[in-house]
Amino acid sequence: MYKLRGHHLFCLLGYRGMGYSEDYIENMTLLHSKLRENPKTEILLVKGPDHLCEKYPNNGKYHCQNDTIYERDAAILEKLDLNIGQILKWEVIESRIQKYVTPSDIQAVCQSCSWRSYGVCEEGVQEILDGKGLREVK
Ligand code: SF4
Repeated sequence: MYKLRGHHLFCLLGYRGMGYSEDYIENMTLLHSKLRENPKTEILLVKGPDHLCEKYPNNGKYHCQNDTIYERDAAILEKLDLNIGQILKWEVIESRIQKYVTPSDIQAVCQSCSWRSYGVCEEGVQEILDGKGLREVK
């Protein structure tokens, strides 16, 4: 089971192998592959730093405890009608995205994110809506 915070449920959709450091990328790629290959993998929704934050580099400006990030987590969980403490299979999270999310939601909930301008997160949402699941990272 993996611990994830709200906004990382969306970040995984747009993940294309980019990240904050080699360690961060290696960790995220492993998780992403696991979820793609086994959508029955369980996720525990947590408040604050999670499995991905564990590898956030020490040399960068640590943002994982910023209020804006907590607010983004809460907005995304609310959108998906999910709560901290719930345990769900990844495929259930994908079905919530299909039910409650549109690509343009990224513009609204992720306003301050530096990765947003790449457009990959909207693409990732669309691919879930199209039933394609997570895109393979090469
Ligand atoms: S825009 Fe940023 S916070 Fe939002 S899903 Fe993409 S990477 Fe995550």
